[in-house]
Amino acid sequence: MISRQKMVFGNWKMNLNKNEAEILSKEINEGINASDVKVVVFPSFPYYDHVATIAQRFSVGVQNFYPTENGAFTGEVSVNQVKNLGAEFALVGHSERRSIFNETHSFLKKKVDAAINFGITPVFCCGEPFDIRNASEEYTYVLKQLEESLFHLDNKTIQQCIIAYEPVWAIGTGLTATIDQAEEMHSTIRKWIAEHYNQECADTISILYGGSCNAANAKELFSCPNVDGGLIGGASLKSDSFLSIIHSF
Ligand code: PEP
Repeated sequence: MISRQKMVFGNWKMNLNKNEAEILSKEINEGINASDVKVVVFPSFPYYDHVATIAQRFSVGVQNFYPTENGAFTGEVSVNQVKNLGAEFALVGHSERRSIFNETHSFLKKKVDAAINFGITPVFCCGEPFDIRNASEEYTYVLKQLEESLFHLDNKTIQQCIIAYEPVWAIGTGLTATIDQAEEMHSTIRKWIAEHYNQECADTISILYGGSCNAANAKELFSCPNVDGGLIGGASLKSDSFLSIIHSF
């Protein structure tokens, strides 16, 4: 079980070469001055091991994995291979995996189960695109994502997950959810967890915000009672902005 705590996660996506990843990892190591914040970075696969050998004051996770142990899946990396590398965290359901790589609710459910079976914490990403928010259907949309791929877990296992609310219209766009929009969705997700499971589960699970979170807006977002931290894309690629976000609590 991973208890609710302050967290800042950096999703490097398909960015940085080996040297850049090494420099950034060293700068993060040296700059972290917050022992109560759990910091995890998600580098590109080829540099996972290199970053992991440098990481001392932060953990390293994977952006992706294939939910079976082995087989004829050319180009994929299996769940047990990432476990073997030492990964403790894995992103599941990121909007780019959903939209560009057509990862469906049922496939994401398999990824959640595979991660749990291998002792990897799934960071389950959910969030609505712009047209859905425009039509005021964001709550129905996000609830479906959770119900289809995450809420099949039992009371104990759900507590091994982290949820990241990432409105798709805010990812990489420079648009950020207002603190009211973020807090309303986060408190609603927590209420759904209490309804599907119990209050203990709702109080235990960390819910991160993602979507153009940066050094300028992190403090305000992290001050929301139900926002436990952030999943950061663009602003995690430079140590000054990433460290400033880590130190925003
Ligand atoms: C993300 O891709 O998870 C993300 C939050 O990206 P950005 O911070 O760049 O919007």
